[in-house]
Amino acid sequence: MESLENQNETLLLAIELINKASITPDDSGCQEIIKARLESCGFDCETHQMADVTNLWARIGTANPLVCFAGHTDVVPPGELENWNTDPFTAEIREGRLFGRGAADMKGGLAAMITAAEQFVAEVPTFSGSIAFLITSDEEGLAKYGTRAVVDVLQRRNENIDYCVVGEPSSTRRPGDTVRVGRRGSLTGTLRVFGSQGHVAYGHLASNPIRAFAPVLAELNRLEWDSGNEHFPPTSFEIVHLNSTSGADNVIPGVLDLKFNFRYSTEWTHTSLQQRLERLLRQYELKYELDWHLSGEPFLTHPGLLTETVVAAIRSVANLEPELSTGGGTSDGRFIAPMGADVVEVGLVNATIHKENENIEIHHLDTVCQIYKRILNGLLVDCRDG
Ligand SMILES: [Zn+2]
Repeated sequence: MESLENQNETLLLAIELINKASITPDDSGCQEIIKARLESCGFDCETHQMADVTNLWARIGTANPLVCFAGHTDVVPPGELENWNTDPFTAEIREGRLFGRGAADMKGGLAAMITAAEQFVAEVPTFSGSIAFLITSDEEGLAKYGTRAVVDVLQRRNENIDYCVVGEPSSTRRPGDTVRVGRRGSLTGTLRVFGSQGHVAYGHLASNPIRAFAPVLAELNRLEWDSGNEHFPPTSFEIVHLNSTSGADNVIPGVLDLKFNFRYSTEWTHTSLQQRLERLLRQYELKYELDWHLSGEPFLTHPGLLTETVVAAIRSVANLEPELSTGGGTSDGRFIAPMGADVVEVGLVNATIHKENENIEIHHLDTVCQIYKRILNGLLVDCRDG
């Protein structure tokens, strides 16, 4: 480990968080550290423990607008330990990089948003509006008792978020090069196609579900669902599981099981996609059962004060012109956007997230902290003055 002397606050906090093995949905004490930091600079903190998930809602100020930082303390499992060059849960600095599970996704981002708020509140104690943190330990897992559940609590008491900055690692090479201004929807289907089992030598006495499904599969792969739009890439359809067997070489199987996922643009809603797919199944006269799971409808933050403020912050801190994108996977922004909040994701570089030897460049931590601080200035000081 290189010397920690003269290292900045953001790095020290990131290290402290990485050293807690908070594999989803276990918070492992991370939020106690965050809570202590935020309380000592004036935030009111509430812990919402729901099942095995720990959530933190922290707020300073009572006025509008409410600017919320959102993030998660949970991390994905480390994978194969022998492929790591360091202990995933002991942060290590090597050649200007910080290694450890969660360094990029997203304990580094959490540390940056906390030190940004601490510095901002100390420097501008008379800011207008309010600042909040919505932190969960259930982003990488089921996401049932996490952000979604806290949003329910907030909505019941009419506490509305106006602007939300999700500190997920949005960037490709340098912090701020990519800002996510929306996300595609995600919809999963679990399909069972029924045939009837029989002896392989007497095919006419059976009905093979693989044979019945083959032309549907071909058509599904051929279909162009849409060509995207101004803000979204085209809708994609992928099969993630396919199985049909009787277990024996001389038996035609009776059922075929399939799982698939749509990542869809605002050209569709989950119901219109479901209807389109079922129409196809009926067209081929399949006998089937189908269950759907909606992870989130697509959302889009239209150009406005939040996007302008974020772009200006990145220009001034990082000297970059960010790309505004709706690509990538889903995030907890999908639960916050339906409150009517404008949501963006901006944070560290995502090159090593969920991989072995996850790491970030150390100096990026300070860049991200400064970007977050500039965003607070833009939304809670400059607007008031201007
Ligand atoms: Zn994440």
